[in-house]
Amino acid sequence: MTEGCIFCRIVAGEVPCDIVYQDEDFLSFRDISPQAPTHLLIIPKIHIVSLAQLTEEQQELAGRLVIIAKKLAEKEGIAERGYRLVMNCGSEGGQLVPHLHLHLIGGRKLGDGLG
Ligand code: 5GP
Ligand code: ZN
Repeated sequence: MTEGCIFCRIVAGEVPCDIVYQDEDFLSFRDISPQAPTHLLIIPKIHIVSLAQLTEEQQELAGRLVIIAKKLAEKEGIAERGYRLVMNCGSEGGQLVPHLHLHLIGGRKLGDGLG
């Protein structure tokens, strides 16, 4: 656990959240400020700051993250209508929480823009 990291504190059970999925390595919970009817965050339990810090050796972890998101979209009932996966990286990428996370957003028609 990395001191002061809000998502590490969530993993440790110190900060409450609405958990939708977890296994040994990953956790998914509802975003505290949802941008759409479904807005989940999927995170590795280990502290990785961002995509920029992800290594070649962590390819499998990255793949599993995406597959979990796809399965959660099915579970949320939005897979057929479509959804968006977003991973912000760094300050210009709009990353506010420095613990790697994937947003799963859907349940309404999303805008065309990517910022
Ligand atoms: P970022 O901008 O880093 O890609 O997204 C961080 C996301 O984490 C934001 O959508 C924000 O609403 C969410 N978030 C920040 N703090 C918390 C928290 O304590 N609990 C939950 N559930 N979501 C959080
Ligand atoms: Zn962390």
